[in-house]
Amino acid sequence: MSSEKSTEKGHGNLTIYIFGAIVIAFILALAAPLIAMKLEIGGELFLRILKMLVVPLVVTSVMSGILGLGDVRKLGKPGGTAVAYYLVTTVLAVVVGLMVVNITRPGVGFDTGEFHAHSIQKSPKERMLEALSKITGMTEEEVGGVFTDLPSGEAEKPNLMAIVKNLALMLVSENLFTSAAEMDLLPLIVFSILFAAILTTMQKQAGVLIDVIHQANEALMAVILVVMKIAPIGIFCLVAARFGEAQAEGKFIEELAQIGKFFGTVLVGLFIHLLVTLPAILWFMTKRNPYKFLLQMGQALLTAFSTASSTATLPVTMKCATERAGISKRSVEFVTPLGATINMDGTALYEATAAIFIAQVAMIDLSLGQQGIVAVTATLAAIGAAGIPEAGLFTMIIVLNAVNLPVEYIGLILSVDWLLDRFRTAVNVFGDSVGAAIVETTLPPEEEVQA
Ligand code: ASP
Repeated sequence: MSSEKSTEKGHGNLTIYIFGAIVIAFILALAAPLIAMKLEIGGELFLRILKMLVVPLVVTSVMSGILGLGDVRKLGKPGGTAVAYYLVTTVLAVVVGLMVVNITRPGVGFDTGEFHAHSIQKSPKERMLEALSKITGMTEEEVGGVFTDLPSGEAEKPNLMAIVKNLALMLVSENLFTSAAEMDLLPLIVFSILFAAILTTMQKQAGVLIDVIHQANEALMAVILVVMKIAPIGIFCLVAARFGEAQAEGKFIEELAQIGKFFGTVLVGLFIHLLVTLPAILWFMTKRNPYKFLLQMGQALLTAFSTASSTATLPVTMKCATERAGISKRSVEFVTPLGATINMDGTALYEATAAIFIAQVAMIDLSLGQQGIVAVTATLAAIGAAGIPEAGLFTMIIVLNAVNLPVEYIGLILSVDWLLDRFRTAVNVFGDSVGAAIVETTLPPEEEVQA
């Protein structure tokens, strides 16, 4: 009991250290941006260590989660609950975003200055190439080489079937090793579920393999514990370097002021989802104290803010969810990896809000039906977005195309996307952990599994 208390206290201290590290990093970035930028290497090292753990962790934890159910046929209810939870919360996030942006109307009267005059002289394809090249940092020729089938005429008609088809194809891959190398987690998760499902039917014959999977998973969780000891330093470097860069460029505050109303609108939406919608669902479904839960997940949320990647944050999310929030490993092991890949409430909210903002700027009136299409495509686009920095910016093209909005207007929000990305990633991660707590309530009792 006393050791439990001291672990709890240790975790609490770590959250405070990480928070302190972020505050000091901000101050350093403001005061001495050039020095802060030099810390980039420290941040990159920490990020790579986290990412290095992701593939083995996802494979062993999803397998170990399924094996923990004893029999894959028991996956029906928790699996169904997880998918229903992902969908319902993502749609709710989109609805919150749409409501807020329709109330604040940040794009009405927005001064596009040179941007508009410059962009309307170009063809849709040229404008899209330009926007993509700004986002990726690649030249327009390089972008053209990668995205070979960019439409050359006006934006294509919405094609929901094609989007759904692409999402279905994302579930599997031709080569698992390529997926692992590219950190393409969905096929790895699907394979792990299948493989572990078969193992549960083999029991004694596969006894050694099952033990190996459980032990590898335990060992990886222990590695995460060690890695978390350097988290405050890693996070300090990550935040200092990125904010230092923004400060050194000198234009950031100016750009933020220009697009401040949009920025504030997205933040209000994200905070409503983080502090009202998700807590209400958590309380209703589990009777847990949602704000205590939020604090327990603090390290994961701060790591998400610092890395802007729910995938890179996954090791921390799993650690906090099991050790701090006390959610059963069986639930965390299969809900959070899948959640980090397909459950992105913050991203969906952002994409819907940004699409309406762009429509307002371009003075295009969207009917209720069109806003409905925005809601559906933003949900699908968020499911398809990878858990990596600024992935939402790419999948937003799907949303804009669906209602014929000018894709090149993405250029207007580029300057603040990296910062909003951090907030939406934190919301994405919180959504995953709430999902794990809810799915836990649907799992068969542990004794039944052992019997
Ligand atoms: N960075 C986000 C994540 O990793 C995805 C996005 O919205 O760009 O969850």
